[in-house]
Amino acid sequence: MSRLLVVEDDPGIRSALIHALSDHGHAVESAPNAMQGLQQAIANDPELVVLDLGLPDLDGVELLRMLRAVSDTPVIVATARDDEEVVVRALDAGADDYVIKPFSAVTLDARIRAVLRRAATNGPATDLTVGELHLDIRGRTAELAGQALELSPREFDLLAYLMARPGEVVTKRELLAEVWRVSYGGGEKTVDVHLSWLRRKLGESAQEPRYLHTVRGVGVKLMEP
Ligand code: CA
Repeated sequence: MSRLLVVEDDPGIRSALIHALSDHGHAVESAPNAMQGLQQAIANDPELVVLDLGLPDLDGVELLRMLRAVSDTPVIVATARDDEEVVVRALDAGADDYVIKPFSAVTLDARIRAVLRRAATNGPATDLTVGELHLDIRGRTAELAGQALELSPREFDLLAYLMARPGEVVTKRELLAEVWRVSYGGGEKTVDVHLSWLRRKLGESAQEPRYLHTVRGVGVKLMEP
């Protein structure tokens, strides 16, 4: 059983979800709009949030950003069909997975269990150190030469994935699949953008790499300088 928060403005969909997810053994609370959803997510610390992106008071992706600023609670977004651009924005903003409306409770429950499983076993529970780079996986803090690095949740996950594989070439497709959880093509620009942000925070560039080395046409590898 998991404690879930469902943020959904449509009363019919909301009560159907509460009913179905309760039937699957979850303890479900709900909120009818973004601001109440944010309040409940912070106050009650649910294990996972199911977030409708089409909310009356605030864009769901904006809510996700606000939530991500204060919490790592896994989030599955629900969105209307043919909305790939919105899905990509939501994943970039830190969503863990998505479902396309209309979806079945069985599918949503399977996604919920998969996301919670990943959250429980996400990467090694130990710390990672490469050169002067140090990640505290449980505390989700990063340091370079003893100085704290301010990383977004996605940048942290990206760095952790690469640091767990020092010297290994990792493709952008693999990063999309393992860090962004996106299986369709495209989106490699997203990886490039996050890598360039990460480089800036590490005080290096693609032209003068220290830790993050581009392997042209293949991907990227992290190495001790
Ligand atoms: Ca809606």
